Amino acid sequence: MYTVNFESAAFILTLVCLIYSLTVKRRQYRVSGSFFSKLQNQHFVFLLLLLSNLFSAASSVGGVWLTEVTFPNVGFWRYLLHALYFFFHTTLSICFTLYIMNVNGTSIGRGRLFYSLFVLPYILAELLVLTNSYTGLAFYMDDAMVYHRGPMIAVLYGVGALYIVLGFYFFFRYNQAVSRADSIAIGTVIVMASLGIVIQAVRPDLLVELFAESLAFLMLMILLEERSGHIDLVTGTLNRVAFADANRRLMQTNQHYSVILVRITNMDMYSKLFSGREMEKLLMQLASWLTELGGGQNVFSCGQEEFAVLVMDSGPAAAALAQKILDRFEQDWKSGDITLRLEAAVAVVRVPNEAAHLDQLEDLLASSYHTSKTGSHLVSYDELSAFQRSRNMELALRSAIENGKLRVWYQPIWSAEQQHTIAAEALLRIDDEEFRGVSPEVYIPIAEKSGLIREIGMFVFAEVCRFLRDHAKDADALEYIELNLSVYQFMYDNLAESFEEIRSGFDVSASRLNIEITESASEQATAGMAEAMEELRTLGYTFSLDDFGTGYSNLSRLVKGGYLNIKIDRSLLWDADRNPDARRLLNSLIQIIRKLGYNVVQEGVETPAQLERVSEAGCNLIQGYYFSRPLPEADFLRYLRAERERPEKSTENNN
Ligand code: C2E
Ligand code: MG
Ligand code: MG
Repeated sequence: MYTVNFESAAFILTLVCLIYSLTVKRRQYRVSGSFFSKLQNQHFVFLLLLLSNLFSAASSVGGVWLTEVTFPNVGFWRYLLHALYFFFHTTLSICFTLYIMNVNGTSIGRGRLFYSLFVLPYILAELLVLTNSYTGLAFYMDDAMVYHRGPMIAVLYGVGALYIVLGFYFFFRYNQAVSRADSIAIGTVIVMASLGIVIQAVRPDLLVELFAESLAFLMLMILLEERSGHIDLVTGTLNRVAFADANRRLMQTNQHYSVILVRITNMDMYSKLFSGREMEKLLMQLASWLTELGGGQNVFSCGQEEFAVLVMDSGPAAAALAQKILDRFEQDWKSGDITLRLEAAVAVVRVPNEAAHLDQLEDLLASSYHTSKTGSHLVSYDELSAFQRSRNMELALRSAIENGKLRVWYQPIWSAEQQHTIAAEALLRIDDEEFRGVSPEVYIPIAEKSGLIREIGMFVFAEVCRFLRDHAKDADALEYIELNLSVYQFMYDNLAESFEEIRSGFDVSASRLNIEITESASEQATAGMAEAMEELRTLGYTFSLDDFGTGYSNLSRLVKGGYLNIKIDRSLLWDADRNPDARRLLNSLIQIIRKLGYNVVQEGVETPAQLERVSEAGCNLIQGYYFSRPLPEADFLRYLRAERERPEKSTENNN
């Protein structure tokens, strides 16, 4: 005697799950694309699981009920319900495996051969069920219309077991591809379903298997199908968390695919012009256009103005899709009353060739890739990785600062008149493996863009003050130390105040601090910068104009005055080595600057011939490898002491 209580409960439970999914979570189950591509969608397969379970339970309950009643033709109905039960129960087992494969990504990117082999046992089993009325191989009804197992019933159970085992295999084999929480959820589901099967094997009369499976599906619905944390609230597409999840799965299962990154570069401008609601509508429209294009499930909103499309192709199809996206941005977007032209920077990243780990992919996303090019454009992978390098450098810079890796080195400035070192330039160095051989010319601009320059500038300033205080005796030979100041530092309104606070702490005179400003920076000078410079001058600081003679040299700078030194860029000196016109220009420039009453510092003097040339022209201060490279503090102190002991030799000192 069978008790159908559990089966009835299974039916009701599954029905509730189905109703909930199709109403409350409707959006998630609206999957576009071909049936084959839908089978690669976790949510779609979940619906199939529920349906198979529902029909299995219904046919089982109906079947048991029919054993207790009699009416004409009841034999046919009994037979039919048995057949339906086997049909849906076999479907249930293949869907179970497919579901696990979708959760951990093993389903994606496999070829037709794999799927042909994958469905083969299923098709055989279902053929056995469908042809059973002729063959009676699976089961048959005797004359009294009582059910009996046929000689090949083991095949049906075997196929079911095969898919369950396959599901186990894919679950354990690619367990790392799913998050810990998801992994625990699936593990529990597997245990629950298996328990049902075992109990039913021991007590067939209880018919408990489907009920255990329904409970398992309820759990899947609550834990794995509840993807609200994976949905972008504005656009309704999957969000960045889902993006990370999807890529983790695909990478763990060694898939080859492409990620098309789409960044809207002029969103900022429109956000200022239109309301938040209008912009949201526009983003929704954009997202649904991309979703249609990307075939349904593979579009992710990765930020305010960024989208990513996963394409299971790493060849021309991905490039063609990227081009299609770009082409769309050549047209207007209309939403309500507004019509506007969005601009996009589109990049294609091929996995694993161009990004083998999730970190790399996320770095690329975070690199704020877009060039200064206007209009929509394709960002090449080389450009993309340059952005990434710059971002990595920013992170490395941040950690170098946090870990106390910043150093200040000193390069002597030699006076041609006094024939000894009278000043030095403080230059930033980073004592870290990652920065070995990397010039400040590379990381200072990154520090400027990221705002780290402020902290760095303050560090260098404090270090120089400390140096002057701690080594008063050796530093006595130095009239001042020059520090490089970035124009960005002037943007912080309390620059003079911060300097003063540090300086007074070290009890160093402001006149011993000379601030170098590059010519290009002084070109960009803002009113705030002029004010801060004036304030610092009043406090006793002096200024030098750095890198004079590069870019758009502006002689009017010299007339405006206010500098102690003008530093001529080394490129001009080196041009003079090769070119007589440059030689004449350098000569005259030095003379003019001297006549205007400034000191001239020639940077980059390396050879005796260069020293002679600039000295003859009247250059009174020299800086360069001819005298010394920039030195760490201790070496620089030794250098000063050595020079003090034999000052007459300093011009012969060529290192
Ligand atoms: P800069 O201010 O023009 O500094 C002079 C650069 O020329 C230094 O490069 C120095 O090592 C190099 N140099 C000096 N003499 C010679 C020579 O004879 N031959 C050659 N080949 N090079 C010579 P460094 O230290 O790599 O610094 C590069 C630039 O980075 C600096 O150019 C400056 O603009 C910036 N910088 C360095 N430290 C700081 C800092 O603390 N703050 C800011 N804002 N910028 C800094
Ligand atoms: Mg400088
Ligand atoms: Mg310079």
